[in-house]
Amino acid sequence: MSRPAIRDDLAALEGYHSPQVDVEVRLNTNEAPGPPPAEFAAAVSEAAAAVDWHRYPDRGATALRAALARVHSSADLVIDSSQIFCANGSNEVLQTILLTYAGPGRSVLTFEPTYALHTHIARLTGADRIQGERTDDFLIDPENAVALIHEHRPSVTFVCSPNNPTGMSEPPETVLAMLEAVEAVDGLLVVDEAYGQFSPWSALSLLSDDRSMVVSRTYSKTWAMAGARLGYLIAPNWVVDDLEKVVLPYHLDSVKQAAGLAALQFVDDMEQRVSMIVEQRGRIDTELQELGCKVWPSGANFILFRPPEGDGDRVWQALVERSVLVRNTASWEHLDGCLRVTVGTAQDNDQFLRALREVLQS
Ligand SMILES: *Cc1c(COP(=O)(O)O)cnc(C)c1O
Repeated sequence: MSRPAIRDDLAALEGYHSPQVDVEVRLNTNEAPGPPPAEFAAAVSEAAAAVDWHRYPDRGATALRAALARVHSSADLVIDSSQIFCANGSNEVLQTILLTYAGPGRSVLTFEPTYALHTHIARLTGADRIQGERTDDFLIDPENAVALIHEHRPSVTFVCSPNNPTGMSEPPETVLAMLEAVEAVDGLLVVDEAYGQFSPWSALSLLSDDRSMVVSRTYSKTWAMAGARLGYLIAPNWVVDDLEKVVLPYHLDSVKQAAGLAALQFVDDMEQRVSMIVEQRGRIDTELQELGCKVWPSGANFILFRPPEGDGDRVWQALVERSVLVRNTASWEHLDGCLRVTVGTAQDNDQFLRALREVLQS
């Protein structure tokens, strides 16, 4: 039998991999450590019962976007629903941005090591990839970034802040310098703030309808809703108009819109979870350092560290044998011998630290 061949430009593609192993403590994908409150699940069931199943969903996701605009508005910053775009996970938000503004004959700039999906989606959508590098301490060097932007004139430039997998937030001056450079070459700056609520500052403070910058957010992490696949963008209204022309019609189903809306009734619970995680993060950071690990300061819900002997592979395996799963980044470019651990519940973290102590002190 002859088979159709995958597109020539994707022939060497490797899919996205995040190995799952059956263990007691799963600290490998930066999910929230527990589900949203029971009242949330009840509100979603009620909303699902009221859905007009024979009708297409509200194409404009009107109620959800209005509520998100309210949640993000403050005395200093007014966000309008015309500045919000929702999609099936922030991955679909990013894909829609690249379909709209990048694609064949255009280029996308990232700063490695960073979230692998930025380059992966750029490739799927046919754009050229330009990979800048971070400094040895994993920050973006603004002068280098500005030079790369002027040299390559990318259509889309990504800044992930806090950055996955390193956890570090870029300072505002870096983002601003990059934004000015991007605007000078008629490009778009995409700030991926999947971990925004854990971070000391947000690029939302730079948002305006006359700036070429967008900020993406997700329900997957802080909202404890990775199972729902919902993300959104806060952007100049002309960006939202452009994206709406490109995204498939009715891509966001009615139940999901209702779930996203229901979640926003529980902002206090979300903020409590974030504080709990930030507190636990501090404790893990301290203990990792006491165990002699190199630890990078995290503004997210995970920590990148390098065990004292730099033998991440061995430590990862020994943790799995103790029923603890972390992300093995030991063989990733730039992350030689490192591991990434998601902050879990106090109990999860106890178990992780106990296992790690055993592994490192045996
Ligand atoms: C987890 C993560 C996302 C989330 O993607 P979803 O599709 O919303 O689940 C986006 N960006 C980064 C950097 C992430 O780590």
